[in-house]
Amino acid sequence: MSTLRFRVVEKAFEKKAVEVHASGKASEFFASKVFNREKMFRYVSVKTFAKVEESIEKGTPLDSQTADEIAAGMKKWALEMGATHYTHWFHPLTEGTAEKHDAFADPDGKGGVIEKFSGKLLTQQEPDASSFPSGGIRNTFEARGYTAWDPSSPAFIVDDTLCIPTIFISYTGESLDYKLPLLKALEAVNKAAVDVCHYFDPNVKKVYAYLGWEQEYFLVDEGLYAARPDLLLTGRTLMGHESSKNQQLEDHYFGAIPTRVLEFMKEFEIESWKLGIPLKTRHNEVAPNQFEAAPVFEECNLSNDHNLMAMALMRNVARNHGFRVLLHEKPFKGINGSGKHNNWSLGTDTGALLMAPGKTPEENLRFVTFVVNVLKAVYKHNALLKASIASASNAHRLGANEAPPAIVSSFLGTQVSEVLDYLEKTDTNEIYISGKQGFKLDIGRVPELFLDNTDRNRTSPFAFTGNRFEFRAVGSEANCAAGMLVLNAAVAEQLKDFKKEVDAKIAAGKDKFAAIVEVLRKDIKESKAIHFDGNGYSEAWKVEAAKRGLDIESSVPLMIDAYLYPSSVKLFESTGVMTEKELEARNEVKWETYTKKIQIEARVLGDLTMNHIIPIATRYQSSLIDNVYKLRDLYPADKASKMSFHNLEIIEEISTHISFIKEKTDEMIEARKVANHIESEREKAIAYHDTVFPLFDEIRYHVDKLELLVDDEIWTLPKYRELLFIR
Ligand code: ADP
Ligand code: MG
Repeated sequence: MSTLRFRVVEKAFEKKAVEVHASGKASEFFASKVFNREKMFRYVSVKTFAKVEESIEKGTPLDSQTADEIAAGMKKWALEMGATHYTHWFHPLTEGTAEKHDAFADPDGKGGVIEKFSGKLLTQQEPDASSFPSGGIRNTFEARGYTAWDPSSPAFIVDDTLCIPTIFISYTGESLDYKLPLLKALEAVNKAAVDVCHYFDPNVKKVYAYLGWEQEYFLVDEGLYAARPDLLLTGRTLMGHESSKNQQLEDHYFGAIPTRVLEFMKEFEIESWKLGIPLKTRHNEVAPNQFEAAPVFEECNLSNDHNLMAMALMRNVARNHGFRVLLHEKPFKGINGSGKHNNWSLGTDTGALLMAPGKTPEENLRFVTFVVNVLKAVYKHNALLKASIASASNAHRLGANEAPPAIVSSFLGTQVSEVLDYLEKTDTNEIYISGKQGFKLDIGRVPELFLDNTDRNRTSPFAFTGNRFEFRAVGSEANCAAGMLVLNAAVAEQLKDFKKEVDAKIAAGKDKFAAIVEVLRKDIKESKAIHFDGNGYSEAWKVEAAKRGLDIESSVPLMIDAYLYPSSVKLFESTGVMTEKELEARNEVKWETYTKKIQIEARVLGDLTMNHIIPIATRYQSSLIDNVYKLRDLYPADKASKMSFHNLEIIEEISTHISFIKEKTDEMIEARKVANHIESEREKAIAYHDTVFPLFDEIRYHVDKLELLVDDEIWTLPKYRELLFIR
């Protein structure tokens, strides 16, 4: 092992677990750093509190006096908590979050300072936003974007800073973030679902969309990470031969959590609980050094904020334990990548879970109504849903025989499938039987529905799992809002269409439940193509899915086109989530981001091949050549040639690999130059996808072969076995 590598590896082995202890029970410090309703109640007047509650429930704007009073209360609490700064915390169109800190302290005009924070500062700010991606909506000379408080997500304190969750909009009102369209989609699905709920229960006033995320991640030793320029700069390894042992034995999954990792998890959980993130589950994942954390589900907007906070927190806490967190979807070749299952459902303010079967026939009809509408929405917008989770990094998972295939379909399981088949195949008269109160739906005859947790299909990207759907295609690094806003908007649109059709039948004199069943039967037939309970990874499914007319596009830049399909523009505009102009601008950002990611990877790969791999391989080759010469000096020619036979072979192999690497690296640089001259962001991204990216694997193949040939002593980059097994 090279001395450099040896030192790094040795240091990793030396690292001891830093023990973490919480002071007190979780229930004693949970949400201690959050200005939640309970705290707001203590820090503002009853009248103001009621106004904020109303604003949160109904979306009514806050008057300036109310805003001032909340700001004063928030400031008081934050100062008591030791905060010195505040920030509008927002979600730009990059991964992660953004913040600009301002101190509460402000000159008092007498040479001192006082802590200031007004309602105006709380509710609106104008950060210098010129360098956030905006797809050209905000011309840079008019680099104004505004952040505005989202009162539905409580403010919280990180370190010395009060973080105020906000939306981010352009001067002309277009959304420049993920939060605003998500909030609009949630409002749309609330309205549409409440209307449909009224067929079953007139008391429903609000429908919440719920999200429970499962965050997968890798941990690697910090020192090893720093010795891998590709991990450092791109978040993934661009080269590295598979370790002899990786996940074949499946001995990591649900295994005992290594001590150093456990201490990291403890600190991460304690800090999460202080921030009100209800983390519940922790375990090892399938790949070595891969883990998962999951909270209890919450209202979607809040849950998404919590996910973003959790990702940031993980990154920080990991450093305390000598780790780096890898949130990239595919840090290592040959073993599983990381996803973030989005468990999603709808629930009412009366406590009903709309994706869960009930006890009475009416409840079961309601359940079937919502499931069928979700299926139809997913069917209609399957290409768009895929686009919502598509990214340069998640592309490594899509269609790579693990996690989600690059085709969106929905698994329902045997019980729900049977119910839908039954509904589809019987005619109305057979479904209805006379009950005590008139017509009663006999879905109960299609046996009582049990939570069907056993026949889980891990290959499905959108699976029904008993009382919710699990959108599994979401990437580990992604902002869940991207997928959630599409899903909720699509379901909202579909529920509106459904209600229109049912109402028309009722107006024509049909019984309410009969009308519902008729429309459901039609919708089940129409959306059949999306329902697939088989193996999503199989080649046969690709062929079958194409026949069914599902979207099978596998190129990310082309997947993104789906945002601008007429059906998508109609969806977003009719639900008020986004305008066509916003969609166009956001697509520009998506294509540009794709290009930049591949461009950075190409540069790093070029650097590594030219500055690490080729020089090291050449050095080793020279030592072999030296050996061959020396054997010739020492021994008679025929004996020497016999003795140097193997080395000569290796010398040639090395040359072959080096010339391939050099040739392909040149080709890659050339392809980049050509692509860089393309004006259109879309065409440029396509060029990067089609001409630059395919060379990565070709180059890597030869690099990985060299890794097996070259003396371990002089190989500088930490190897997979070190990255994955040292903890
Ligand atoms: P797994 O899929 O690994 O079995 P769990 O059962 O632990 O996962 O649940 C995963 C996530 O799903 C958790 O965040 C959980 O709170 C969430 N979840 C459970 N029920 C619902 C629901 N009705 N709606 C949304 N999320 C839910
Ligand atoms: Mg799950």
